[in-house]
Amino acid sequence: MIPLAARRRTKKLKSPVQTPSDPADLPAILLEVHQRLYQSYGPQGWWPGDGPADVIIGAILTQAATWSNVEMAIANLKQAGCWSLEAIDNQPEEVLAEIIRPSGYFNAKARKLKAFARHLQVNHAGDLDKMLSQETGPLRDELLSIHGIGPETADDIVLYAAGKPSFVIDSYTRRIVQRLGIGGEEPSKSYDSCQALFHDNLPADAPLFNEYHALLDRHAKEACAKTPRCHGCCLLDLCDTGKQALASD
Ligand code: SF4
Repeated sequence: MIPLAARRRTKKLKSPVQTPSDPADLPAILLEVHQRLYQSYGPQGWWPGDGPADVIIGAILTQAATWSNVEMAIANLKQAGCWSLEAIDNQPEEVLAEIIRPSGYFNAKARKLKAFARHLQVNHAGDLDKMLSQETGPLRDELLSIHGIGPETADDIVLYAAGKPSFVIDSYTRRIVQRLGIGGEEPSKSYDSCQALFHDNLPADAPLFNEYHALLDRHAKEACAKTPRCHGCCLLDLCDTGKQALASD
């Protein structure tokens, strides 16, 4: 079933599909992309894990790491009895680094995990629900003030741990947006400009943002890889890059 928000189109796409950089068409095109990805791949069930603390630990561990390596680090944390922010706060940094070694950059990530756990204790007496219950803007600003939390990790936490609408931008999202040509060159300029494409043209709907980001990641792995596999792509008729690639075949 396609989520309700995705069916709320602001404008019907004309046929044939027009250049996806016309600002008036962006809401309809973004919803069309979401709908096609959903029909192709179905619900993605993000975020894997059980509860907000899992999301936060996973979001830090997954920086510059594949999820399979993160899973090994998570298994180690569980085995070591260190699977909570409180336990991380109590663990010496060098010991924690050894536990999460499979995730890569383990010394830096141990420092980041401990910085988050300490921040939670000092500023919210360890009450994660209280911290996450803030409005989206103040919560995101607070997250960005913590060592090791950049925009992507902050948005992972806002969206997948707090359930608030902040669109997550990653390299997969930027690649697909750029190849589709949605919004012209502006979204490729920065994290914020790419996020603005989604925030300015979609309803602020956390379930929609949740599924959309997960679907973009899936599509980048299945079809829109570094070398794209455009034949049969569900977005081909919307995609400048794909149409050019097939025309020159
Ligand atoms: S048509 Fe090709 S370049 Fe365009 S989204 Fe699909 S796989 Fe990516």
